[in-house]
Formats: sequence, structure tokens, C-alpha cells
Amino acid sequence: MKEHLQHKVFKCISECADELGLETYVIGGYVRDVILKRKEPKDIDVVCVGSGIELAKKVAQKLHGKPQVQIFKNFGTAMVQHKDLELEFVGARKESYRKDSRKPTVENGTLEDDQNRRDFTINTLALCLNKERFGELLDPFGGVNDLENGIIRTPLDPDITYSDDPLRMMRAVRFSTQLDFTIEKESLDALERNAKRLEIISQERIIDELNKIILSKTPSKGFKILFNTKLLHQFFPEFVALHGVEVVKGKKHKDNFYHTLEVLENLSKNTDDLWLRWAALLHDIAKPDTKRFENGHGWTFHGHEFLGSKMVPKIFKRLKLPLNDKMKYVQKLVLLHLRPIVLSKDVVSDSAIRRLLFDAGDDLDDLMLLCEADITSKNEEKVKRFLNNFKIVRQKLKDIEDRDHIRNWQPPISGELIMDTYNLKPCKIVGNIKNQIREAILDGIIPNDYEQAYNFMLEKAKELGLEKH
Ligand code: ATP
Ligand code: MG
Repeated sequence: MKEHLQHKVFKCISECADELGLETYVIGGYVRDVILKRKEPKDIDVVCVGSGIELAKKVAQKLHGKPQVQIFKNFGTAMVQHKDLELEFVGARKESYRKDSRKPTVENGTLEDDQNRRDFTINTLALCLNKERFGELLDPFGGVNDLENGIIRTPLDPDITYSDDPLRMMRAVRFSTQLDFTIEKESLDALERNAKRLEIISQERIIDELNKIILSKTPSKGFKILFNTKLLHQFFPEFVALHGVEVVKGKKHKDNFYHTLEVLENLSKNTDDLWLRWAALLHDIAKPDTKRFENGHGWTFHGHEFLGSKMVPKIFKRLKLPLNDKMKYVQKLVLLHLRPIVLSKDVVSDSAIRRLLFDAGDDLDDLMLLCEADITSKNEEKVKRFLNNFKIVRQKLKDIEDRDHIRNWQPPISGELIMDTYNLKPCKIVGNIKNQIREAILDGIIPNDYEQAYNFMLEKAKELGLEKH
């Protein structure tokens, strides 16, 4: 396995380890990823039997000429940043857990103890760095075999591994999704048995793993496992509520859980943007709450886009997602996700097109991607027709934008100008006139230019009884 230790830092760590007489290994994610030829990993975990901090200092001295390291006291680890690499050093340890916390009691241990405390066999692999045994692989749990066969398995009894640190359940699903591996049956059953234990994990850690699932190539795989093991029920009940089909008078609606996952999957082929993917996840989130069976009409979900966009801040807050412009962006896409469909129907006025340009602004292209991904019909003819309709909508949007420049619209008449003209202080009337000008432009009553807007302002001000200054 020497071929995996070509990087110069390994030689340096090896020399330091021998000088200190410390048995030292590179372990975990780095070894897994180089064997899988996945990517050149940027974080390297080094474990030694003894003081990881001592070793880190020596390595820093050799690499940078001073023994400067970043120490994380709580974890007993030390980090050395070398160019774009993060080298993390830790002493081999043994862990024991209490029931109410994922923070174990830690004592020094052997390499074997250290491998025992790791989450999955594929994450226990260790390559020796000492010169005598350089490149020797320690694989007590058959991790290489599991890597070859694509299996997620815990080194110890899965009920113990998951109950000790329930975050490992999220990691199991995350690795299974990222690597397209199968979670071994016993482990899968243990996930369901221990799902409730997720309650001792902080929301931040959970969402970290969930976002990694969402950003993977086939996120739906992860969501299906989360649902089937009931892990999803622990932190995302709104999403679980999308599941299921109701039948009334022989009429059923589609299962919005699987539909949403299909939309996410479609969209993921065209974007790696986490927030656009979140918009796909949440676009129909209010369907369960707006669902009605209307006689003579069938199933309806009136207003689900409005209610859905209102639910976004609550969901973001609880899940500890950022409450900033990213949230606003998701909200906006959820709110607008039906609008392009409306534009694809029958005859639409230019003003409806202008309104969407105005409302979507810079996010118009993302909105169109979401809408195209939202076509999940099994009928190929239909899919073709809908996609073609959206092509027409895209063209209409482009034509009107080229002519009217609405996307990044700036009011042609500023509030200052209105105040100066009529000797007003900032007040409601100023906003009112500005709004009327905007509406007139969007409705096509006047074109989007200064002169016409100025005349329109004069007219409206007169109606309000204002005198020019
Ligand atoms: P990635 O860096 O792609 O997220 P990774 O496996 O390197 O994957 P890290 O969080 O960097 O994950 O952890 C490094 C190693 O530490 C893992 O490979 C695993 O051996 C161990 N590890 C991390 N988290 C846990 C945990 N919760 N329980 C047990 N072992 C863990
Ligand atoms: Mg890592």
C-alpha cells in the first residue's frame, strides 16, 4: 500500500514518528478515499500510540521551522495546516459512552482500541508510517473487502455503535449515498431500532450530514433510507407528511414524497447548488396541509405555493439552516414555482411575463430549472410537450426582457425626485407614487423610460392634489 503514501508529508511524519519512537498510522477517511480513488483527500488523520500533540509539534517544526500547531483541547487533537492540507494528529484512544451523551469518556489506548471506536469498517483502515513498516495495512475488520463490495458495516455490534454515538446513523446514510454503498442488513435494522436516539444529537450536526446527502449525486437514495429507517421522522416531520396516497371515489393523488425526490433527482443533474436543491425539496411542502377533495374536480392543493413559502422560515429555523438571503431565495422559488406553468398556458399577456421577470429577477434561470425538474410524468409524450412549453416560455421571457429590461429593474423615478418636485419629506405618498409608476410599467400602460414615467408622476400627483414645488 506504499503507493498511497507518495505525498511528501508522509515521509516527514514518518521521520518525526521514528525520532519520537511513536507507533504512527494514517487512518480513516484518507485511506478509504485513496483506495477508492475517489478524490485526493484534503484532510489527513494521523493517529499515534502516545501523544498526538507532541508528534504534531515535531511535524510542524520540520515542515515550517516552528512547532506551531492548533490544539483542540476537548478532543486531545492537534492540527497542522500545510498548504492546502489539514493534518490532524491524535493519540490512539479507547472510548466508553454513557447513555445520555454522545461525548465519551476517553483514555489512552492501543491502535486496536482506536480502530474499535470508529464508525464503519471502511473507516477503520490504517496504514503504518514508521519506516520499518511503511505502508503496512492494518485491517482487522475486513474493511478493504467491504470497500470492494460496497458495504457499510460497523466494526462492533451495530446497536452499540449507533446507540453510543447516534450521529453515526446519519453518517451511515450519508456514506451509503455518497459512495453508493449498501448498508448491511443488521446495520439497517439497528438504524430503525435506534432512530429515536438521534434526539441527543445537535441539530447542527444532523443538518451537516443531511446537506452532504442533498449534495451527493443521487440524494433520493439517502432520503429513502432515512424514511424507511424512520430517522427522517426524528427531525423532518413536514417532509415525512408528503408520503402516502389517498383515494376518494376511486381517485387518487400522486405520492408527493416520491414526486419530490424525483424532482430533486432531476434537478441534481443540472445543478450542484445546495439551496436550489433545497428549493426542490420544499417546493410542495404545503401539499399535505392544502389538500382537498373537491366533488366533480378531484384532488386540489390550492395555495400550496403560498403556504409553502410561509413554512420555509419555520423549517429553516428548526433545522438550523441559515436565516439569511439563502432562506429568502428558497422561499421565493417555492412561492413562484407554479408561475412559469401558468405562462405556458393559452395566450398570455406581456404584462404577465413582465411580472414574472420582475418577481424572479436574478433567480429566473434557477426557477426555470426547478420547473423543468418538476415534470415527473411517466408519459413521454406529455414530458415532451411540457418541456416544449417551457422552451416557449423561456423564449417569451427573453424577448420581453430584451425589449423592456425588467429583470434588474430600477425605478426610473426615484423617491428623491418625487420629494424634491413636491417638497415632501419621506412619507407614504412618495411610496404610493413610486408603486403606481412601477405597476403602470409592469402593466404596459407606460413604457419603461424616464420621460414617460415623469409625465405619469405629474399626472398621479395632480390626482392626489399635490402642487409642484
Ligand atoms: P469526510 O471527510 O468525507 O466527511 P471522513 O470519514 O474523513 O469523511 P471525518 O469526519 O473527517 O470523516 O472523520 C475522520 C475519521 O474519524 C473517520 O474516517 C472515522 O474513522 C472517524 N470518525 C469520524 N466521526 C466518527 C464518529 N462519529 N464515530 C466514530 N468514528 C468517527
Ligand atoms: Mg475526513
